[in-house]
Formats: sequence, structure tokens, C-alpha cells
Amino acid sequence: MVAVALGLLGCAQREERAGDTSATGELSSQGWIDVTATLDPAKTPIYEGDAPMKFDFLKDMRKGDPLALSIYSLGAHSGTHIDAPMHFIANGAPIDKVELDRLIGAARVIDISDSVQAIDAAELNKHDWKGAKRVLFRTRSSHRGWMDSVKFHRDFAYIAPDAAQLLADGGVVLVGVDYISAEQFGAPAPRTHQILLGRGIPIVEGLDLRPAPAGDYDVIVLPLEVAGHEGAPARAIMRKRD
Ligand SMILES: [Zn+2]
Repeated sequence: MVAVALGLLGCAQREERAGDTSATGELSSQGWIDVTATLDPAKTPIYEGDAPMKFDFLKDMRKGDPLALSIYSLGAHSGTHIDAPMHFIANGAPIDKVELDRLIGAARVIDISDSVQAIDAAELNKHDWKGAKRVLFRTRSSHRGWMDSVKFHRDFAYIAPDAAQLLADGGVVLVGVDYISAEQFGAPAPRTHQILLGRGIPIVEGLDLRPAPAGDYDVIVLPLEVAGHEGAPARAIMRKRD
């Protein structure tokens, strides 16, 4: 009996050291931070020309209905969302075929100075990104709280095609940015999207990385599983790695 009890204790201690479970072995929210932009028509920016966001109540208890029941109308690329290969690649995978392997795992947040708008190869190589499986850029958009401000800002920081090429060639499986697009506003061609999505690398756009300073994290970012479409809103959470 004593040996069994000690064995259980040892097991519990190992789990605690692993840092991802409580002493009882149960999952917990401890340490996880939310990097999702809240969907709110009063606060969420919408890409110029994209669909308006509308949230209505079909039934409303405040108006005497026996329940609350909502209807949502919004673009697939609203708030924090994922672009699947189908967005810019003919016959590319839709959002419901993006593998979970890409969406769950180690990620590195790279802090880009507020003065930088173009994350090109030269800018990328100023940072320690090589070997990272997932790379998330925390830019002026987070510094300025732009995912929480209804005005659309054209001068958001973007990933230039030469940096996208380096990331794709470097074995990165997921790329993330903190505004509604990874592409330069008004770019003559969607080269960044084509390069990443063409290699099967989904792009997380519209992260709110204010609570996640530069460093290594675990990330979980799960889009709504909509059949046969090119993108979907997602919930994204992260936890600092030791
Ligand atoms: Zn998108």
C-alpha cells in the first residue's frame, strides 16, 4: 500500500513539473492567455470592401421573448481568423481540411518595432526565427491596439513576399499576424498569400498579441469547421514555454 501511495505521489509530482496539468492530472486554464480579437461591430475593424459584421437577436428576453436567439452575419475573414490554402490557390485545401498539427504546438512571437511597416527578408533576419515551427508577428498593430479599434488602418505592418519565401523555405508550418491581413495594403499581387498558402501554410490573421510579448509559447488556434470555404474565424490561445 505504501509503495502504491508513493508511486501515485511520484506521478503527481511529475505531472506538476510538466506544467500542463494540475496535481490531480486535470486540464486547467492556468497560464493560458487569450490572443483572440473579440468580435464586436463597435470595435472590430473590417478590411476595406469586405462584408459588414452584424449580430442581431431573433429572440430577445429583454423584449419579452422566452429565450435569447441570435443571428450572425459576417465575412469569413472577420477578427481573428485563418486563411486556408483555398483562399488564393486553385484546388487548395479549404478550412475544414487544414490539419490540427499545424494549429496546435510551439510558436515563437517576434516583436517588430512600431516604426516598421514592411517585414521583409532583411527585417526578418534581424530576429531569431530560424528553427521556429510557427512564427507570429507582434507589430505596430498590437502596439497601437488596432484589432480593438473599428477604424481600418491601411498602414498595418505586413509580411513582404521575400520574407514569406524565407519562412516557407525554413520549414515554418503556420504564420500569424496581428492585423486583418498579412499582405501589404494595395499590393499589386497577393504574393505573400500565394507563397505561404501555395506551400500549404495557413495564415492566422487578426491576432491581438498585446498580452503576448516576444518569446516562445504553445499555441492553439482553432477555426470554425466550415465545409468547403477558404477561411473562418478562430479562437486563439497561447501559453508561455519555459
Ligand atoms: Zn484572411
